[in-house]
This record gives sequence, C-alpha cells and structure tokens, in this order.
Amino acid sequence: FLTHLPLAPKDPILGVTEAFQADSNPYKVNLGVGVYTDEQGKLPLLRSVALAEDQINTLKTARGYLPIEGLGRYVRQVQTLVFGENSPVLQEGRLVTVQSLGGTGGLKLGADFLRWFHPAAEVWISDPSWENHRALFEAAGFVVKSYPYYDPETHGVDFDKLIRTLEGAPRGTIVVLHACCHNPSGVDLNEAQWQAIRAVVVERGLIPFLDLAYQGFSQGTEKDAVSVRYFSELPIPVLVANSFSKSFSLYGERVGALTLICASREEAQRVQSQLKRVIRTNYSNPPTHGASIVATVLEDSNLHQLWEDELGAMRNRIRFMRQALVSCLKEAIPDQDFGFVAEQQGMFSFSGLNLAQVRRLRQDFSIYAVDSGRICIAALNEQNLERVVEALTQVIRE
Ligand code: PMP
Repeated sequence: FLTHLPLAPKDPILGVTEAFQADSNPYKVNLGVGVYTDEQGKLPLLRSVALAEDQINTLKTARGYLPIEGLGRYVRQVQTLVFGENSPVLQEGRLVTVQSLGGTGGLKLGADFLRWFHPAAEVWISDPSWENHRALFEAAGFVVKSYPYYDPETHGVDFDKLIRTLEGAPRGTIVVLHACCHNPSGVDLNEAQWQAIRAVVVERGLIPFLDLAYQGFSQGTEKDAVSVRYFSELPIPVLVANSFSKSFSLYGERVGALTLICASREEAQRVQSQLKRVIRTNYSNPPTHGASIVATVLEDSNLHQLWEDELGAMRNRIRFMRQALVSCLKEAIPDQDFGFVAEQQGMFSFSGLNLAQVRRLRQDFSIYAVDSGRICIAALNEQNLERVVEALTQVIRE
C-alpha cells in the first residue's frame, strides 16, 4: 500500500528550518521559526530552569508513570498562572486542566475532545493564523473556515469585518482566538475589541478556544492573560491551550496544558473523565521532566521571580530589536513607513514582504523568512541586524 504513497508537502515553517540547516553560508539567518534566541543568537537555557533542574537532580527521583492528566503540582501552577490566584472559576472547582505535549498537544486534545462530543461544529480560525491550526483541526476531523483578522492596508485588525463575520457564525461554532501575540501578524486585539467578541460569542452561542502560546511576551504574564480571564467570567464552555515552550525556553520538553472551563464542579468531573479517555487512547500519560521543571520554578517564590525577570528580559530585547529594525529601515528606505513593526506584539512581524521577495531573501542572501512574509523578530540581534536590513532594503527596493 506504500507503493503509490505521495510525498507530503514540507511543513511551511519547519521546512524553512530544514532549508536553513542545509545552507552552507556562514552568515545565514533564520527568521522563519518561532524561537527566541538571545543577543548572541543562541537558544537560552534560563537560569531559573537550570536551578530548578539542579534541585530536581539532587532529589534523584525515580520515573514512574504520571497520572493520565499529568503532574498535580504542575496542573495547579498552570491554573494559577493562566487564570490568576484569586480566580473564581479556580476557587469554584470549575477548571479541568490536563498536562499536554506543548501547546500543540493542548490544542490537539481539545480538538479530539470537541470532535468526540461536539462533532457537527465547524472550527473557525483567524485569517491568517498559525499554519498548524488549520491542519490540526482538519486532522481531528473538522471542517475549518476562517474569519477576517489582519488588514494589510492598515497593518491592523479589520475589526468590523471580524465582528460581522462572527455574528454570522452558526451556533456552536468553535472559534479559535489568539489570546495574545497573534501569530503570524503580531497584531493583537484591544480590550474593547475583546469585550465585543465576548458579547458575540455569548449571543451566538459560540465556543471560544483560546490559544495562549506566548504568555509574558507582550505586556507580562498577568496582562497577557486578560483575554482568558474575560472569557472565564462567562457561563459557557471555554477551552484554553497554553504553552511554556517559549516562556521557559523549553521547546523540546513539550510542556503545555489544556484547560476547560465548566459550569460546575460536577460537570468538571465528567469532563475530566472524558478528557482522560482522549489522553489514554493517544499517548496514555505525559512525560515527567518538563512539567516538574515548570512546577519547581513556579512554586518557589525566588525562582518564580527570577523566571519573571528572565521572561521580561526576553520581552524587552524583542521590543528593542523591533525599534532598532524600524529605525534602520527608516534610514535605508526613508519613503516607506515601517513604524507598524514597533507596534506589533510578541515574536513575530508580518513584514509585508511578498513571496517573490521572501524567495529572493533566501536565494541571494541566505535569510530565511516564512513564505507568508512572517519574520521572527526574536531571531534578530545586533550582529545580524545590519545584514538583514541590507538584504531587506535590496529586495524591497527592486
Ligand atoms: N499556538 C501558536 C499560535 C503557536 O505559535 C505555537 C508555537 N509556534 C503553538 C501554538 C504551539 O506551541 P508548542 O511548541 O508549545 O507546541
């Protein structure tokens, strides 16, 4: 049956990294993948993480199976960080949180759960969205459609269109929302816009599925969870997938979670029992190490503060590189305004480059961006900035 198996297309983002790795140019730059690198261009090992690992290592614990839903200490910390210490839904026992294999794993558990128990719904994602959203929900068996989001003319959100489209969504539609640091555009919703979406969600009986992959990369861990907290006030089911890949620089450990907000403690118990079935039939139970690092850091007030500081330094460095990029481009191409890049949030920028320009960057300059024109600002540093600006200037000018 494999004789005529077609070759699958390369992943749009990880495919860029494969091409980057095969490039022998010593001055190559990977602006494709969504990974934070420091001012030396290196993937950081956070000090808070290293200290937590030291603690874990001295304990020399054996590695038994975790419960299906994951490490209890970790689950509690996720709930506090995402929903807030004084969260009513937390205190009322209405949250069901399960450890997942990164944010992707949280989305997939949510998708499978919804497909089992809400199979006729459509899934609506933003246009554009993280490339894997469509593929992941389609793979779970859903029809995936998109709602308008980014407006290339204004470099902002086309909010009127967005709201009008959501108002026309069939009841029960699952709406995937980027909680902060929209990927790929870097353009976020403001408070009034979140409130308006919330009102439509209630009125139309939609099911919000919030994707919180970048908590702490916009304004800080508390402020970046505001959208999640708005939705947690509603008497409707809400799903939240969160990730520590970026905020702890723990990409390879696959640490994330899925939380469902339920109407009551009793409903939460039923939901948890079914979610455990989804997990059991997929991978049985999650791995120990990443979750114990995150739990150890978040439980200890000193390590927690150190982590917040390290996360703040990552956030500030990205903001600094945005400003540096804008001012260099202003000098190089004075007749064009790139000020919007400094306004965007999180790791990414929708640069406005078209496909031909992205290809030219790759072929002539060994600078790798995603075909959509998305560039990762967190991959810029003072050593590669000049090269990137020179190359951008050439491809934009022609
Ligand atoms: N959602 C969005 C919007 C993302 O950008 C990412 C990471 N690129 C994820 C989810 C998945 O994160 P993880 O690596 O933790 O699976």
